[in-house]
Amino acid sequence: MSESRYDAIIIGAGVIGAAIGYELAKTGRRTVNIDKNPAAGYGSTSNSCAIIRFSYSTYDGVAMAWEGQHYWADWRNYLGGDVDERGLIEFVQCGTALLKKPGDGSHHEKVVPLLTELHIPFEDWSVDELVQRFPAFDAAVFGPPKRPDDPDFWNDPAERLLGAVWTPDAGYVSDPQLSTHNLQRAAEKVGGEFRFNTVVTAIERTEDRVRGVTVSTGEQLTAPVVVNVAGPHSFVVNRMAGVEGTMNITTRALRHEVHHVASPPGVNYGSRGCHVQDGDTGIYFRPEAGDNILIGSEDPACDPRQWVENPDEFDRRITDEQWEAQVLRLARRMPDLGVPNAKRGVVDLYDVADDWIPIYDKTDLEGFYVAIGTSGNQYKNAGVAGHCMARLIEEVEGGRDHDGDPLTVTGRYTGLDINLGAFSRNREINPNSSFSVNG
Ligand SMILES: Cc1cc2nc3c(=O)[nH]c(=O)nc-3n(C[C@H](O)[C@H](O)[C@H](O)COP(=O)(O)OP(=O)(O)OC[C@H]3O[C@@H](n4cnc5c(N)ncnc54)[C@H](O)[C@@H]3O)c2cc1C
Repeated sequence: MSESRYDAIIIGAGVIGAAIGYELAKTGRRTVNIDKNPAAGYGSTSNSCAIIRFSYSTYDGVAMAWEGQHYWADWRNYLGGDVDERGLIEFVQCGTALLKKPGDGSHHEKVVPLLTELHIPFEDWSVDELVQRFPAFDAAVFGPPKRPDDPDFWNDPAERLLGAVWTPDAGYVSDPQLSTHNLQRAAEKVGGEFRFNTVVTAIERTEDRVRGVTVSTGEQLTAPVVVNVAGPHSFVVNRMAGVEGTMNITTRALRHEVHHVASPPGVNYGSRGCHVQDGDTGIYFRPEAGDNILIGSEDPACDPRQWVENPDEFDRRITDEQWEAQVLRLARRMPDLGVPNAKRGVVDLYDVADDWIPIYDKTDLEGFYVAIGTSGNQYKNAGVAGHCMARLIEEVEGGRDHDGDPLTVTGRYTGLDINLGAFSRNREINPNSSFSVNG
């Protein structure tokens, strides 16, 4: 049996795994990203909506996302130039409108003070301004979110929204799979290796220290550092490493549908629209290529949650029920929307942490690290997560007691302090979380 030696093995070559590989390779470590898929970003990253926004519920969530945005805005420089023969992704800065609904519990109440505190540019729009900017919208209050079989779904609305919080620097990335390939090429340029079509079947360890991994060919790869970035398979890899029961926060795979519909005639939403967080109807939507609109769910309480026991086996077909729920919710907000019979979209898995906040941490097994629980909302943070994980690994391998004295990482672009203790595996469940994709 052959053996290969590395300084760090990264399990997974999704957008976050590839960013960690790039950051570690830049520090001079000999790295390998291992992925069972045939190419980088073919896991859950490939079906990401890739929305880059800053509207989280906690200070640390907003700070991380604001820092993370700058990586996308500076993508070519960050990667070290035009590293990819397939070209680089486009970051479409279409802006985000976070709709303000009346009454308690509107998400903007948490977000506005944090945007203010962190000096993130935003505008506070009145409802008239919202409709002036986006005349295709009906600015009525339709909520709380309901399913179309609820007798109140088509009720005539009695009041209007309060307006919207507009963040012009937000947007989306055109092609999440390509962005991961960009990271792969950047990592390779500084010496990082990638192995595809290769399954990690075991984590090798001594009593208290990781030694490496065994892969599907039977080959053993050794390294003092192994990082679990397995996306929705994170709990499976933690189980292999024997650390599953050692963390206060756990992760689970959640099935999620995203749908595509044509823009209403004359609206050109695909090129002129913005990203909208519509907590009133329970959806988010953004422009999509080909003059389409992409619709995701904010997972309102009325929608059943489909937890998946085996992330290798789940139904990738769009269901009639969820298609109707998401598309008809958008049809309320955008009354001229045609509701097609032919269902279009994608189905994939979120890797959800108990409080929908990611875990970027070490573990009780020395040398074994996790970047998991990305909860449907961490694509945007790939660059900053890579930077934070590389700094964490450097410090902990150098002897730091991160559990007792959590590391703070200074954002490369914004200079903000990012307290990694907020993303600890052993944190108490954060009560400020939205317990949804809004983190
Ligand atoms: C439908 C959907 C919409 C989303 N929308 C957004 C959004 O708009 N904005 C945002 O910020 N975030 C969004 N997210 C979340 C974001 O896409 C993810 O957080 C991010 O892509 C996760 O990247 P990753 O590298 O951690 O995981 P993944 O991309 O899932 O990669 C994990 C990799 O590990 C590999 N792997 C697993 N087990 C093994 C093993 N045993 N051996 C070898 N390889 C293994 C898999 O093959 C996979 O390629 C969305 C997610 C989904 C599913």
